[in-house]
Amino acid sequence: MKVKVAKEAGYCYGVERALKLAQEAVGKLPEPICTLGPIIHNPQVVDWLKGKGIVSVDSLNQIDKGTIIIRSHGVDPKVKIEAKKKGLEIIDATCPFVKKAQHCARKLIEEGYNLVIVGERNHPEVIGIFAYAGGKAVVVENVKDIKQLSNFKKVGIVVQTTQPIENLKKVINALIPKTEEIKIFNTICDATVKRQIAARNLAQDADLMLVVGGKNSANTSRLTQICAEVNPKTYHIETASEIKKEWFKGVNFVGITAGASTPNWIIDNVAKVVKKL
Ligand code: SF4
Repeated sequence: MKVKVAKEAGYCYGVERALKLAQEAVGKLPEPICTLGPIIHNPQVVDWLKGKGIVSVDSLNQIDKGTIIIRSHGVDPKVKIEAKKKGLEIIDATCPFVKKAQHCARKLIEEGYNLVIVGERNHPEVIGIFAYAGGKAVVVENVKDIKQLSNFKKVGIVVQTTQPIENLKKVINALIPKTEEIKIFNTICDATVKRQIAARNLAQDADLMLVVGGKNSANTSRLTQICAEVNPKTYHIETASEIKKEWFKGVNFVGITAGASTPNWIIDNVAKVVKKL
C-alpha cells in the first residue's frame, strides 16, 4: 500500500515555539509551572509535559505561586495583569500570528470601524481577540451569521488564524451589501494556509485520507472537513490505535495529514501501522 504524508503537516511554528519556551522553563523558573488551559490541543503531548512537571490549570484561581505559561492561542489582556498582581512569573507563548490578529482588532476599533471577527465564537483565540478589542466586536462563524446583522457605515474584519480562506471570502461577500466601507486584515496564518492546501491536494489523489490530531483541536477538525469535501473516505484519528482494518478494503493509496499540534512521532507511528496493513 502506498502511503504519503502531506508536504506540510504537523507542528507549526507557534506550537514549536510554545513547547520550547515551556521546556526551557523547567529547572529555571519558579515552580509549579502551569499552562493556562492545555498548552496545545493534543492530549498525548499534554500528558508527556505532565511527566516533565508542566501541568495545565483552568484558571488563575488554581495557582498562587510559580510560573504561568500563556499558550499560543493568547488570552484576554486582563489575565496577564491579574497574573502580575499575584506575583507569578509569566511566559507569554502567544503565537506572533495571533498577536498580529489581536493588534489589528484593536487598531480597527481605534480607527472607528465596526469590528467583525471571523472565527469560532468559543475558541480561546477568538475570545482573546475579542477581549483585545475591548469587547466591541461581533463574532461571525460563517455566512449564515451575517444575515442577522444590521447595516454598518464601515466594517473592519480580522480572522481567526486557522480559518479556511473560503469562509473568509464568503463572509466578505455577504458583508459588502451591508456597508459602505470594508477594511480587511487577513490574519489567517501561513502555516494554516499551507497545511490546508497540501491536505486538499493529497486528499484529491488518495483513496483514503487519515487526519491525525487531537479531537479537541480546531485546526485538525478543519483539515478533516477540507479533506472530506474532496474525499469521502476521510477519518480523523488521534493515534494509530484508532485505525480500523476494514476502512482499507480496496484502498491502494493512503494520504496522511496532521494538525498543527500533532507531534511527528504520532504521525510516523500512524504511517508505520498503515504500511503494515
Ligand atoms: S496555527 Fe498559525 S497562528 Fe496558530 S500557533 Fe500555529 S503558526 Fe501560530
